[in-house]
Amino acid sequence: MISHPHQDHYGLLEELPGDWPVYCGAATETLMRLTGRIFGAELTHEFRTWRSGEPTNIGSFRVTPLLTDHSAFDAHMLLIEVEGKRILYSGDFRTHGRKAALVQRLMADPPKGLDVLLMEGTNLGSDKPCMTEADLEADYVALMKATKGRVFVAWSAQNLDRTVTLYRASLRTGRTLVIDLYTAEVLESLASYGRLPQPDWSSIKVVITKGLARHYKRRGMDDFVSRMATNGISAKALATQHDKWVVMVRPSLIRDFEPAGVLPIADDVWSYGMWRGYLLQEDGQRLQAWFDAGGAAAKHLHTSGHASSKDLRDFANAMKARTMVPIHGVAWDSEREGFPHITRLTDGEPFAI
Ligand SMILES: [Zn+2]
Ligand SMILES: [Zn+2]
Repeated sequence: MISHPHQDHYGLLEELPGDWPVYCGAATETLMRLTGRIFGAELTHEFRTWRSGEPTNIGSFRVTPLLTDHSAFDAHMLLIEVEGKRILYSGDFRTHGRKAALVQRLMADPPKGLDVLLMEGTNLGSDKPCMTEADLEADYVALMKATKGRVFVAWSAQNLDRTVTLYRASLRTGRTLVIDLYTAEVLESLASYGRLPQPDWSSIKVVITKGLARHYKRRGMDDFVSRMATNGISAKALATQHDKWVVMVRPSLIRDFEPAGVLPIADDVWSYGMWRGYLLQEDGQRLQAWFDAGGAAAKHLHTSGHASSKDLRDFANAMKARTMVPIHGVAWDSEREGFPHITRLTDGEPFAI
């Protein structure tokens, strides 16, 4: 069972026996397959998709997925019932994204009689920024208004909450959001799962870059590239009318931006919309150097995809489980205070309920 399409939750899927079925949401399957194709690794298992709130029987287990708020699209908590026992797996979640109401509702009316809460704790003990996406949108609006030139933003194409935030901020400031072909593919393939910005909307342009266009053509997706080109622009267009654009940026795009004359200047700003730790790694450093060379200022705006330490405590207490078992996070030993009863297990240690 895959709670959501982040690679730290399914990256070893192909290691499983080939005849094991995989359960997840339909959009999760779509995104996992899309990621697999981009990396040239097709997923080979049979998928069975679930719907939020509808129980699925898997052997003697009854599993009810509950859609939740996370930076990954289509993320679920799982209520697992077997032999009269009830387990809730929190999955990765937060309470400050665009689906926060789902978690708040669950906290107000938790599943009755939980025996165990299996709990993710990515942000426990960290002080990552956890403002709401709505507040982040307001900050982006202010940044876009205050900037004379282009606003370049590095963010994950599969962080749909962020794409919505940037789209809305662009719209509110009369700018056009420029996405790459990959982001366009993500949006188009999720069109049936919710009201998400689409590549053919008027305040969005798809930049047709040589590298990505070649990639899609090699995969026999010439049709996709031509379809995107109908609402597309060439990288060259980004070298004119600077105050019009909010431009997605990543290291692989720089290769195609430069020959088209798209180089940062002092009027531009850039914003890193991913975890700060990545900024210190090679890709982040390449971006930093590119913008530094042109004198474009860094105005990093971001909010975490995971719940804050406080929100984790509030959630754990609200679930009123007999005990909780932490399964992810590095601070569970030093940050126990404020949590209900914790059962700490080492890797592989069985636990009888
Ligand atoms: Zn995640
Ligand atoms: Zn995770």
